[in-house]
Amino acid sequence: MKLTVVGCSGSFPSAESACSSYLVEADGFRLLLDMGNGALGELQRHCGLYDLDAIFLSHLHADHCIDMLAYFVARYYRHDGGRCAPLPVYGPEGTEHRLTTAYADTPSASSMSEVFDFHTVKPSTFEIGPFTVHTERVAHPVEAYGIRIEHAGKVLAYSGDTGVTPALDELARDADLFLCEAAFTHGKESIPDLHLNGREAGETAARAGARRLVLTHIPPWTDPQVNLADARAVYEGPVELAAPRLSYDI
Ligand SMILES: [Zn+2]
Ligand SMILES: [Zn+2]
Repeated sequence: MKLTVVGCSGSFPSAESACSSYLVEADGFRLLLDMGNGALGELQRHCGLYDLDAIFLSHLHADHCIDMLAYFVARYYRHDGGRCAPLPVYGPEGTEHRLTTAYADTPSASSMSEVFDFHTVKPSTFEIGPFTVHTERVAHPVEAYGIRIEHAGKVLAYSGDTGVTPALDELARDADLFLCEAAFTHGKESIPDLHLNGREAGETAARAGARRLVLTHIPPWTDPQVNLADARAVYEGPVELAAPRLSYDI
């Protein structure tokens, strides 16, 4: 598996990074995890506009899904006059309605489904292309999922947005790479069931026995070096900060 960070800024874009979006590739298949603000532009550095094979939306906060509106335009009003075939999109209950409402004036109520094939995510195990994925509800104010992706004996776990929860420990169990949000700063922000801080991300990785931790979703107003140090203080494995265009072979 190859993981590429398309965007990793938390909550809103920074000058350096789009919001959450991660490209996962294996056997020529391209799965995009989330498509936050600015991700569609950045994505085109890594693959063609129409080269995705599936999209997974962890939840429907704008910083994880709002560029789906721009991608609808690109797929529906194709420059060559054709329309793209429906692309599988896995998201929480109500994803199609939410995107259609946010767009406001799609030609019809079903226009989104002409270019996206929506699948409702529940806690379950299923196949997406060559990947076996397992999804679990995580602790966030809206219906939100973390995802465990397995391919050829390797495991990538992605937290989405979440507070501390046993579900995340299980998703990240023995993961080769654990991509975990650390939006809050230890000792500064403490709101249950919203986000993790660097220390909590490190503690989760340690409990889960994850082999490598990559911190992501750090907002522009947060000092990432503090969160990095906090995670390192409680987790002995390698920890680093996600950054746009970084990629990992898993
Ligand atoms: Zn977020
Ligand atoms: Zn969120």
